[in-house]
Amino acid sequence: MSVQVVAAKMAEVELKDVPAVKDSPAGSPMTPTSEGKTLVRNDPHEAGSSAAASPTAEPSAKAGEGSLGLLNPNPAKMPQASAMKRTDPQQNGGEAFVNRDGTVAEAPRMKKIQFADQKQEFNKRPSKIGRRSLSRSISQSSTDSYSSAASYTDSSDDETSPRDKQQKNSKGNGDFCIKNIKQADFGRREIEIAEQEMPALMALRKRAQGEKPLAGAKVVGCTHITAQTAVLMETLSALGAQCRWAACNIYSTQNEVAAALAEGGFSVFAWKGESEDDFWWCIDRCVNVEGWQPNMILDDGGDLTHWIYKKYPNMFKKIKGIVEESVTGVHRLYQLSKAGKLCVPAMNVNDSVTKQKFDNLYCCRESILDGLKRTTDVMFGGKQVVVCGYGEVGKGCCAALKAMGSIVYVTEIDPICALQACMDGFRLVKLNEVIRQVDIVITCTGNKNVVVREYLDRMKNGCIVCNMGHSNTEIDVASLRTPELTWERVRSQVDHVIWPDGKRIVLLAEGRLLNLSCSTVPTFVLSITATTQALALIELYNAPEGRYKQDVYLLPKKMDEYVASLHLPTFDAHLTELSDEQAKYLGLNKNGPFKPNYYRY
Ligand code: NAD
Repeated sequence: MSVQVVAAKMAEVELKDVPAVKDSPAGSPMTPTSEGKTLVRNDPHEAGSSAAASPTAEPSAKAGEGSLGLLNPNPAKMPQASAMKRTDPQQNGGEAFVNRDGTVAEAPRMKKIQFADQKQEFNKRPSKIGRRSLSRSISQSSTDSYSSAASYTDSSDDETSPRDKQQKNSKGNGDFCIKNIKQADFGRREIEIAEQEMPALMALRKRAQGEKPLAGAKVVGCTHITAQTAVLMETLSALGAQCRWAACNIYSTQNEVAAALAEGGFSVFAWKGESEDDFWWCIDRCVNVEGWQPNMILDDGGDLTHWIYKKYPNMFKKIKGIVEESVTGVHRLYQLSKAGKLCVPAMNVNDSVTKQKFDNLYCCRESILDGLKRTTDVMFGGKQVVVCGYGEVGKGCCAALKAMGSIVYVTEIDPICALQACMDGFRLVKLNEVIRQVDIVITCTGNKNVVVREYLDRMKNGCIVCNMGHSNTEIDVASLRTPELTWERVRSQVDHVIWPDGKRIVLLAEGRLLNLSCSTVPTFVLSITATTQALALIELYNAPEGRYKQDVYLLPKKMDEYVASLHLPTFDAHLTELSDEQAKYLGLNKNGPFKPNYYRY
């Protein structure tokens, strides 16, 4: 099978139910045009998938081979270490008390306990734009990708805006804007801890000694600024790149890590608690600098790409490619591509197989327990749990809960996934059959109104209700904002909703993603993403003229396999090599790719 086929781009996107970004700067080519849309991606390799939207883009040379040649697989074994905590970028949302028939009701009785984390006021600095809804930078770009941010050393005592401070690192360099350079030592420790669980990047660094696949690359980045990102940036630097970086989320920057990066000579413009104005100012400081022009973009959410399109479109003459991590950013790139406005090749990192498996299945398998435990201290053994949806996320949740001794029921609409649930030993039920008896309800369908008021009314006292799907549409939380119900905030991210007869249900994270709101992402998961990003940059930067056109591509499968292989030594895993005879028999190259594009892992 040719590598060209493997590197084919995602052919088509279909749009449904995602809120449009209303307040992005006018006239932007990145501005979604359709109201209320969400991204549903058709598998372009599926038979029957419509080919109408855009022709499948294929690189015109052997994608992925040149850059892989620079970095022969022989990754070093790395020890394992800890996970980091991340913040919930979605703070408590506004409360609309609307009756189920849609009429506005008198506000229900609310008992609210104010938590320290709710008191923080982030937008103290006056903003030219004003305090807009922050829809772009906070709601989407920041929440559909992972951050592990926790500022262990953060001090909110210093109210001075970093923009008003003159700081220099120990070498006298002041080309950065961060909270406090004095925190650099703490940040360095965080970075060193993260390195332990990011074996692939460390292996790339080792292997690149002598050869610099990113020599001459000037990477401008906009991602969560965390210890894991720092490991990525320092890897890119070791591979020869120069980097300037801003945060993709106003809350997620680990200040001490930003300090360590600035101390190490990186031009970082980010701090935790930026205002909206600060957010765009930081991005601008990354790109609008004399004597330095980026030639690669690494984006998470599309804000940086958007800014360059809007303010400095001529920069694209020198830019070789965009690497985008998030669902939202990828969605915007496809829109640009469809409109014929994408002027450089872009790599969709979000849909790489390895990354997806880790994000959806393995990460959720671990974080469902973490999220439930941290919020409720629940004991799982013997509890009756219903999991709605048996896709990747649902499979992860079910496996974890089963292993803990829970009695797990599954609901599904798709007979194939339903049959899988049966074969895996779960009882397939309709929600109404078990809703009275279950102790925990978990949604992970990506759908809307899976748990509606009727079911909430019938749940037993103490039932825990939470969502692991992307958006907060799965549980009809709005239907609980009625006058007869009392809401009691018992812990951060935990509400008791109390019925007039005293029954209470335990609603977690107000129906938003439980694990993103209440638990941590293991560094190893972020390692997969960061390695995929690094390889995508290497591939786009080194690709010969003409290999990639002005379109959106998936990382070549061979490189996706390479990301996985770089993580194997952590487990002392020994991969079997194909013999010549076997390779010939299967019609494969001994070095991969090992599966056709349509293969379902
Ligand atoms: P998936 O498409 O593999 O699985 C969803 C399943 O839900 C499908 O099998 C579908 O048939 C089923 N379904 C749809 N409507 C249903 C209904 N009304 N009742 C019962 N089942 C229904 O998707 P996935 O990869 O499992 O992701 C599920 C959701 O989780 C998505 O919204 C995704 O964005 C999100 N996600 C969350 C995390 C996380 O960390 N929490 C990670 C990755 C993805």
